[in-house]
Amino acid sequence: MPLITKSDAQKSVSNMRDYEATYKGFTWEAAKSEFVHMPSGGMNIAYSAVDAQVEKFSRGKKTALRWCSKSGEQSDFSYAKLFEQTNRFANGLARLGIGKGDGFFALMPRQPELYIGMLGALKRQCVFSPLFSAFGPEPIKARMDLGCCKVLLTTAHLYKRKIVTIKESLKDLRCVIIADELDQSLVGIPGVVSFRDVIEHSDADYITRSTDPEDNALLHFTSGTTGLPKGAIHVHGAVLSHYVTGRFALDLKEEDVFWCTADPGWVTGTSYGIISPLTNGVTMIVDEGEFDAERWYEILDKQKVTVWYTAPTAIRMMMKMGEDLVKQFDTSSLKLIASVGEPLNPEAIRWGLKAFGLPIHDNWWQTETGGIMIANFPSMDIKPGSMGKPLPGVTATILKNKNADYVEAEIDEEGELALKVPWPSMFRGYLGQEERYKKCFTSGGWYLSGDLARKDSDNYFWFIGRADDVIKSAGHLIGPFEVESALIEHEAIAEAAVIGKPDPMLMEVVKAYVTLNDGYLDSENLRREIMGFARKKLGPAVAPREIEVKDSLPRTRSGKIMRRLLKARELGLPEGDISTLEIDPTVAKVKNYD
Ligand code: ATP
Ligand code: MG
Repeated sequence: MPLITKSDAQKSVSNMRDYEATYKGFTWEAAKSEFVHMPSGGMNIAYSAVDAQVEKFSRGKKTALRWCSKSGEQSDFSYAKLFEQTNRFANGLARLGIGKGDGFFALMPRQPELYIGMLGALKRQCVFSPLFSAFGPEPIKARMDLGCCKVLLTTAHLYKRKIVTIKESLKDLRCVIIADELDQSLVGIPGVVSFRDVIEHSDADYITRSTDPEDNALLHFTSGTTGLPKGAIHVHGAVLSHYVTGRFALDLKEEDVFWCTADPGWVTGTSYGIISPLTNGVTMIVDEGEFDAERWYEILDKQKVTVWYTAPTAIRMMMKMGEDLVKQFDTSSLKLIASVGEPLNPEAIRWGLKAFGLPIHDNWWQTETGGIMIANFPSMDIKPGSMGKPLPGVTATILKNKNADYVEAEIDEEGELALKVPWPSMFRGYLGQEERYKKCFTSGGWYLSGDLARKDSDNYFWFIGRADDVIKSAGHLIGPFEVESALIEHEAIAEAAVIGKPDPMLMEVVKAYVTLNDGYLDSENLRREIMGFARKKLGPAVAPREIEVKDSLPRTRSGKIMRRLLKARELGLPEGDISTLEIDPTVAKVKNYD
């Protein structure tokens, strides 16, 4: 697919008009000195997201958060209201004896109490950890124990369904705050209080204490795509990355209506569903509902969303529904669409242009990086299929192994994507796994991402696959992304995932799992045709030798295809940790706790 160029007019309205010049001139030190600090000089995420917006930028009256409930109601929280509510919540925590460094977990649907609770807890200098509300009791317990959870914010329904059975065994838990009203069965239970009580009996004035930028703020568990989820620790100073990436990669401006579709249970939903938009002073949309193409288009239309941050899985699902559905809505307010989480197939970019009249801007980052690291910035030409270029302030490279050490790869040579340390939102540890953390860094000061990529002569980075997913066949290294992108260009295919299947002659051969678009049925003929199509596009050495049609592909709750699970099932091996597996009706072993 050809380059998508940006006009001078488009560039001139971007926060970052000239990538090369900005990249050259940018330093984190300078950005930090310009950033609004706490009056005491420290940095606190909640201070920047809320207090500074009211006290320094006079945005008190502006809508900070617009909540769209599942059933279609809407309520607005101004920055002043968030300020007041988070102050009360922080005071409430103080009354409960909760303070600096205490583990504060949220097991919540996307409801306003989650946002107030998180920001109030950060003001109180607790360490905030969000959990997906669809987790079952065991993964909840494992994470709460690892993160020394003292306070849990949840709903009455989730408390009864998931916490009651494990509560006695949770070693650090002192208090459960119930977001909705306490019904009779919960009144009088020691340690259980209602959100309303915490807020109503607390003062509206709270002065956020001086916070060191290196103080722990967030504990995020990785998606568990490649194995057991790891708990990545982030500090308050990360807020600088959230702010800067919001300005540069998402192009946030004061007048924007921003919608990040991710759940805060995944790092994207916290970094970009809460911190980045608020620190940039925009109005952010929070939708309580689950994915539904029609509902989403209605939100874009009704809320006049200008900047939309979503994920490839959702985009592929929308593609499956067809672009005619989009045309029934007015999405003309949209200025920018961005995507993260998985590689964005060129086919998806093509579709974005047809359906919304806008290209989708892919960007790359991880739980460990805390914020966007590589992006197709709005003022930059897009090479479809590429993740883009490094954020100003970030040095990225491709490393290869040489004599038990790492050296930088040549242009276009494949290797491991690495980032020069440090940057503000870099993780400061894997909780309880010090050795594993150390292994992420080379002696030369690079962070190893675990992803394979290449860099072209224009400094654009191209994702190849996770190191664990790369297929070795007859002396070739095959990246799943290339094969999957080619497959989904076939009109019958909605989604594709490929794995390496052991082969006595070739070491591995490519096996593809695909789901079909409406109107297509699995048949020997169709599979043969798809294989022919892939061979033409990719050549016989890279094209799949086997194709299996599935109703759905296993994916994490953050929307990532779990190739390791496909492989384990193919080979009859243990499935490993599946705590983050999205409930799939075809997987009988997973209990539905929703
Ligand atoms: P785990 O580390 O537990 O296996 P995970 O790596 O999926 O899970 P996240 O931190 O949520 O957990 O995801 C980061 C990973 O997602 C990246 O390392 C990369 O493999 C993939 N990813 C994110 N954005 C992109 C992108 N734009 N293109 C390609 N891959 C991406
Ligand atoms: Mg990972």
